[in-house]
Amino acid sequence: MGCQVGYFPFIYLGMPIGAKMISVKDWSPVIDKFNNKLSGWKTRSMENIVLAGIEMENLQVHIKDYFVKTVGNGSNTLFWKEHWIGNEKLCNLFPRLYKLESNPDVSVQDRMAANNEELYTWNWKREISGRVLSELMNLEQLLSAASLVSNLPDKVLWSLDINGGFHINRLSKEIDDQLLSEFGSQQETIRCKLVPKKVKIFVWRAAKKKLPVRVELDNRGIDLNSIRCPLCDDSLESVDHALIFCKHARDVWERIFKWWNIGSFKFFSSSELLLEDSQASFCL
Ligand SMILES: [Zn+2]
Repeated sequence: MGCQVGYFPFIYLGMPIGAKMISVKDWSPVIDKFNNKLSGWKTRSMENIVLAGIEMENLQVHIKDYFVKTVGNGSNTLFWKEHWIGNEKLCNLFPRLYKLESNPDVSVQDRMAANNEELYTWNWKREISGRVLSELMNLEQLLSAASLVSNLPDKVLWSLDINGGFHINRLSKEIDDQLLSEFGSQQETIRCKLVPKKVKIFVWRAAKKKLPVRVELDNRGIDLNSIRCPLCDDSLESVDHALIFCKHARDVWERIFKWWNIGSFKFFSSSELLLEDSQASFCL
């Protein structure tokens, strides 16, 4: 029959077939395969997290600023570099003192410990005098409001939530507020759960001139035979043309306006149509 004689165990689709699988050695190729798959998945996830972080920085959403340290015993909090007291990190509130600090990564616990007759343990590169001395007095006054709790660990709190717990919904709203700030009163509509997601995305893309109309594709370096409207051929296919000025689009709008009995269609740009807080809100 032309078939070859085979023997157990053999590998089929990367898995050993016919092996007894009773020893660790038999399972190791299977475990290795899973490990390889998982490490790829982890790398991709990490890449996505890093990219999301970069994107948020671009949007001026500085996620780390939303985390605030609540100090217990102070051993796990950086005295200068983490926000744990006052309304800023101490390195920003007292920059001259910070420059004179011998150990910028010192913990709160190490600096807040009483030292001989001093209330705090300082370690400066040189003796403090002049204007820096008044900065030190201000710092010590601020620190007088803080007290460490020796049997409690330091905790990180998410400042956007009243309970300090991290909730993705609250972060999502914060990002929306940054991202959609230009949308003014239509923000709520774009976030509204009654509007299907694909419609919201379409509105957002149209408002940002990110629809794949020919003019925009051409602006992004995509080689096209023509950038005129493929429906009417009367004009260039811009976002405004596709949504407003094209006679086919206008025909659809006029029919909708007539059907809903809401007057006549008189918009002169897609942003006016999509975003103005006027009768246009019907379309969101
Ligand atoms: Zn057209």
